[in-house]
Amino acid sequence: MSSALARPARAALRRSFSTSAQNSAKVAVLGASGGIGQPLALLLKNSPLVSGLTLYNIAHTPGVAADPSHIETRAHCLKGCNVVVIPAGVPRKPGMTRDDLFNTNACIVATLSVACAQHCPEAIIISSPVNSTIPITTEVFKKHEIYNPSKIFGVTTLDIVRANTFIGVLKGLDPARVNVPVIGGHAGKTLIPLISQCTAQVDLPQDQLTAITGQIQEAGAEVVKAKAGAPLATLSMAYAGAQFVFSLVDAMNGKEGVVECSFIKFPEADCAYFSTPLLLGKKGIEKNLGIGKISSFGEKMIAEAIPELKASIKKGEEFVRNVK
Ligand code: NAD
Repeated sequence: MSSALARPARAALRRSFSTSAQNSAKVAVLGASGGIGQPLALLLKNSPLVSGLTLYNIAHTPGVAADPSHIETRAHCLKGCNVVVIPAGVPRKPGMTRDDLFNTNACIVATLSVACAQHCPEAIIISSPVNSTIPITTEVFKKHEIYNPSKIFGVTTLDIVRANTFIGVLKGLDPARVNVPVIGGHAGKTLIPLISQCTAQVDLPQDQLTAITGQIQEAGAEVVKAKAGAPLATLSMAYAGAQFVFSLVDAMNGKEGVVECSFIKFPEADCAYFSTPLLLGKKGIEKNLGIGKISSFGEKMIAEAIPELKASIKKGEEFVRNVK
C-alpha cells in the first residue's frame, strides 16, 4: 500500500467534523441503541457528510431516533439509505470467544441481511463482527440474487486504529500520522498487522515486533477483561466504524485515493475472504490493492491465520445453506 493513497483516508474522520461539505449520504445503523450503535449514531449525526440517518433496533426503538434527532445538524432520521452499518449483535463476556456467540450473532446478521436484501438491495453494507458474518451476508445476498462483491465490507478498522495507537506510543509518534495496514481477519491470530509496511516507517527488533503484534491481536480480549463484564470496546469501535463510513462516503462522493483495509470476498487468495487495503470508489470497491511486499514474519502469520479463517468462513456459509 502506498502512503500517498493511505493518507487521505486517515484524515477523513477529522475533516468530517470540521468542514461544511454538503453531500447526501443516507446511512442506516442497525443495532443503533447498543453500546457501539449509540456513539456511532452520534458520530454520524455530527458529520456534514451524512444527510440522512436511519436508526433501527429491536429494543428501545422510539428513543433510538428521538435523542439524536434533537441535535442541530442537517442529518434527519428518515427512511431510505445508500449505506447500511450493522453493529447489532450480542457482545462477548469475559472468558468467551466470538465463536461462543456464533449462533446468536449469525441469526441476527442473517435476519438483518435479509431485510437489507429486500428493502435496500442497492445499498453498501458494512458489518461487524466479521470473520463469519461477512460470509453470511454474502450468502444471503446470493440467495436473493442481488449479490455485488464490491458492496459488502467487514469493518476491521478498529485493528488499524489500535495498531496506529500502539506503534505511535511505542515510537513516540503522533498516532494520527501512523498508518499500519492490517490484513487477514478480525479476531486474534487471524488479524495480521503489517508493521513492515507502516507509514511512518518504523524499525523494530524481532522481540518488540512479536510483542506489539501480540498486543494488537489481543487488544479486543484485553478490553473485555479490563471492563469485567461491562460493555466491551464500544467507543473505539464506534470511532473506527465511523471512520470507515466517512472514507466510504468520501469515495462515493468522488474523492480520489481513498484507501481502507476491509474484510471482503477475495477469490484469488488461498481463502475466500481476506482483509486487504482497498481503493474505494463511487460504487464501493474500486480496486483491491493486495497485500504488497510481505516480510517472512508476515508470511508466517498468514500461514497461521488461514486455517482458522477458513473454518470461520465455512461456518458462516454453512449457516446460511442450512437455513430453510
Ligand atoms: P450491545 O448489546 O450493547 O448492542 C447490540 C444492540 O443490537 C442491542 O441494542 C440489541 O437490541 C441490538 N439488536 C440485536 N438484534 C437486533 C436485530 N435483529 N435488529 C436490530 N437490532 C438488534 O452490543 P455492542 O457492545 O454494541 O456490540 C454489538 C456487536 O458488535 C456484538 O456482536 C459485539 O461482539 C460486536 N463487536 C465488534 C467489535 C469489533 O471490533 N468488530 C468490537 C466490539 C463489539
